[in-house]
Amino acid sequence: MKADIRSLNREQLSTHFESWGQPSYRLDQLLHWLYSQRATTWDSMTNLPKGLRENLAEHFRLDGITLARKQGSRDTTQKFLWRLTDGALIESVIIPASPALYGDASDRHTLCISTQVGCAYGCKFCASGLEGWKRNLRPEEIVNQILATETWHRSNQPEGNPSAPTPSDDRLVNNIVVMGMGEPLANYDNLLQALTLLNAPWGGGIGARKITISTSGLAPQIRRLAEEPLQFRLAISLHGATDEVRQQIMPVNRKYPLKELVEACDYYQEKKGRMMTLEYILIAGINDHLEQTAPLAALAKRLHAKVNLIPYNQVEGLAWERPSEAVQEAFLASLERRKVTATLRREKGHDIDAACGQLRLKTEKLEA
Ligand code: SAH
Ligand code: SF4
Repeated sequence: MKADIRSLNREQLSTHFESWGQPSYRLDQLLHWLYSQRATTWDSMTNLPKGLRENLAEHFRLDGITLARKQGSRDTTQKFLWRLTDGALIESVIIPASPALYGDASDRHTLCISTQVGCAYGCKFCASGLEGWKRNLRPEEIVNQILATETWHRSNQPEGNPSAPTPSDDRLVNNIVVMGMGEPLANYDNLLQALTLLNAPWGGGIGARKITISTSGLAPQIRRLAEEPLQFRLAISLHGATDEVRQQIMPVNRKYPLKELVEACDYYQEKKGRMMTLEYILIAGINDHLEQTAPLAALAKRLHAKVNLIPYNQVEGLAWERPSEAVQEAFLASLERRKVTATLRREKGHDIDAACGQLRLKTEKLEA
């Protein structure tokens, strides 16, 4: 299979352009079509000579992703279900500005993206893992979630809407959280290639500090990420502050127990500075006892991390439940008393199956 044009970086593409005797400004024009104009056909690249377009089409694919379903309304949290060229379904969720969860307050839109079809890690509370892992996403399939969301958004704005980006090459998404379907660090190379393309000034132009990678705790890959030149933010899906609690709900904890995970996080911390969040889903009767706030606070302090509490989102077919609001607030207050920076996500998008994997699961059931 030919490589997709949106899986190569500038350097890799310039090798081809040089061998074809094409000047570098032609490459700049191509990159503008790919990442700013979000072109989906070669023929739309009207300022490229026909011969070059034919050459490109002969050597590369230019795949898009198509919208299969959407939930939510404009200007609130919206969830997109995309169909890939092989028919597989993946999800992205766009969350409008304020209050920014992971970046700074000036952020306009955060997009939550997927990195795999399904997930092999089988956390007991998660819809993405329910039917196992199907395949890794390729770099262009990761990148296209941003571009296709922006294209959709632009073509669905009423005339004169001040929140619409005016020039066609303006970025709508300026903050990315890699928290959709799949375990990003289990698709390491494709993820890094995609994020590098999204970060590059000639590509997506999105700052690395505005990109948060969430992992269920793959310790060796966390260390590897610490060696990368780009300063990504890291979110650890902790959900349990002791091995006892964590391994009840996350099988990955048997492979990488807390000690190993936390040592890898220490290392990331040393290399990258204060760039870490601990994600903690509150599940009734499992990890919401106030006793848990002591070990949780100790971990957060050690890692200079803030804690993001997320009330469990009900998944069809799973018996877990979210604790009452009173329990959620008490858990938050206890962490705060222990001098930990913590937030309680008063969940956006609860009503649109915004927890990862839920919309895909429902749609697959309907299509079956
Ligand atoms: N595999 C990675 C990234 C995708 S999951 C990871 O686990 O970090 C993104 C986040 O959604 C994780 O923190 C995950 O634990 C959380 N999540 C999964 N199912 C959920 C549910 N039903 N309710 C709330 N959060 C959920
Ligand atoms: Fe996979 Fe993350 Fe879901 Fe666990 S929480 S099953 S690692 S997607």
